[in-house]
Order: sequence, then structure tokens, then C-alpha cells
Amino acid sequence: MSLKTHCDAGCQKAFTLDHFQQEKLNDGIEKTFYCCPHCGQQYVAFYADEEIRKLQARIRRVQKRFADPADKHEDAARKEAELQALIKEKMDALRARVEGGGGGE
Ligand SMILES: [Zn+2]
Repeated sequence: MSLKTHCDAGCQKAFTLDHFQQEKLNDGIEKTFYCCPHCGQQYVAFYADEEIRKLQARIRRVQKRFADPADKHEDAARKEAELQALIKEKMDALRARVEGGGGGE
């Protein structure tokens, strides 16, 4: 995967994003992020905890159903959309919790 982006919070230079880095935080939370190669500015892609990783594994299983011509793709698409919405909601909540700085549960 590679994606063109630019360093909007740092040096403003364009760069190609071709890999993410991961860092383990407390409570089984993993931060997935990338850095600007010019100035090192860090950008967080998302945070994932155990629950989110399980949902991601489930969505990958659902996505495999699209490769099977005998499977019900409409049903798989509906489940995929449901899981994506759920993952987004959980990631947003987790990011707010991690970056919120001790606002409590
Ligand atoms: Zn930069």
C-alpha cells in the first residue's frame, strides 16, 4: 500500500506513506501511526484494543466471503458495513480516551 499525503501538521512537505508503525500502549492498546520522513512529525492512524482487533478479524472473515461466488454477497456486504460502523465508533471512542488525557471512563 502506498498513499500520497503531506505533512499538514509539520513541515508541509509531500511524502508517500508506504508503511505504518505500531507501538504498544497500556491496557492492550496498540497505536498505529506513521511519521513524516522529512521532519518526523507523527500522525496517528488509529488506536486498537483487544475488542477492536477482534472486530477487525471478523471483518476480514466477512470480506473473504466476497471471493466465494456461492456465498450471499448482499448479506456479506451488510455485515461488512455493520462491522465497519462499529469499528469506527469504537476507534473514535478509544482515541478520545487515549488522547483525552485522563478524563476517566
Ligand atoms: Zn514533515
